Amino acid sequence: MRLGILGGGQLARMMALAAHPLGISCTVLDPSADPCVGAVANVIRGEYDDLQALYQLACVSDFITYEFENVPVECARWLAERVPMFPSPEALEVSQDRIVEKSFFAKLGIPTPAFADVLTRADFDRAVARIGCPAVLKTRRFGYDGKGQFVIRTPDQIEPAWRQLGGRPLILEGFVPFDRELSLLSVRSRTGECRYYPLAENEHRDGMLYRSLSPAAKTGEELFERACDFAERVLTELNYVGVLAIEWFQDGPRLIANEMAPRVHNSGHGTIEGSTCSQFENHVRAVCGLPLGSTAPVGHSALFNLIGHRPDFATLLQLPGTHLHWYGKEPKPRRKVGHVTVVTNTAEERDHSVEELLLRHDFAIR
Ligand code: AMP
Repeated sequence: MRLGILGGGQLARMMALAAHPLGISCTVLDPSADPCVGAVANVIRGEYDDLQALYQLACVSDFITYEFENVPVECARWLAERVPMFPSPEALEVSQDRIVEKSFFAKLGIPTPAFADVLTRADFDRAVARIGCPAVLKTRRFGYDGKGQFVIRTPDQIEPAWRQLGGRPLILEGFVPFDRELSLLSVRSRTGECRYYPLAENEHRDGMLYRSLSPAAKTGEELFERACDFAERVLTELNYVGVLAIEWFQDGPRLIANEMAPRVHNSGHGTIEGSTCSQFENHVRAVCGLPLGSTAPVGHSALFNLIGHRPDFATLLQLPGTHLHWYGKEPKPRRKVGHVTVVTNTAEERDHSVEELLLRHDFAIR
């Protein structure tokens, strides 16, 4: 089988690595000269709206998927008319625009922060009056890793927020005083079977994922089941195929949806060693019409991103249970260049390993 992937970053790279043992070869479309997937997959160099490049990809693919959600929807549709594409372009469309996404959650009865659509200054003033402070002003589209966001903590920050972001389609969200951030990774097969990984607890710094622990401590069955129920509503509504990530704010017993990603997700990288079947393999299996693998954890995992700088590999790998994934990218400020996962038998051992890891390396975002 031949899998085509839109986007050639580390997510595509880890998908291709998972596809290989299944006898599935990958071809990736990416506009950059030297995408990090190049070491493990065939690459077609081209823009995502280059019909000739898309046609080339269609010719060498039995199925198509994508590693990021900002593929132009009309191009995804063009491709999906020629080769089966999973998840569908509709899932892309919902997740590309924060207003569409939050309205979609609300329609399915999934709690979201209070939100308002903001285009003009008058809309902004009305939204601030309704939602109040603190609030978060975000671009509706193309925001990632905390980019295109302004947290309005006090009324004197209303003007600076507008100066920075005004003039583009925006969303104003009520600031959620969350206890912690969680994510749920789910996967749905072509036959409609849904499986769920344990909830992961995510710590963001400077808008980027710093650390993820899975299974999250003290979640309890009820919270997990609620998260699965909400995810299933999304999966079913979109007739979804593949891995879907939903990021949550936990406020006591409440789960409030932040956003969804119709793809494999950074908070699921720990599933490579921490689960029976990783998110990457399950995504590939689902897209290619194969039976799903078990999402059961095989221990307690902690994942740290390597952002902006290269660690000393030998020092990190001395710690038992540690796995290093280096993406083969040149370190640049705020660039994810790798991750480290440690898997242990118990949650206590995981806490201990996390301390040890932090002694060996400064995982700060540079
Ligand atoms: P996002 O790009 O929307 O995932 O936002 C990046 C990070 O900003 C989130 O992981 C949260 O830590 C924080 N954040 C975003 N929106 C809100 C909100 N409405 N309330 C509180 N924190 C938020």
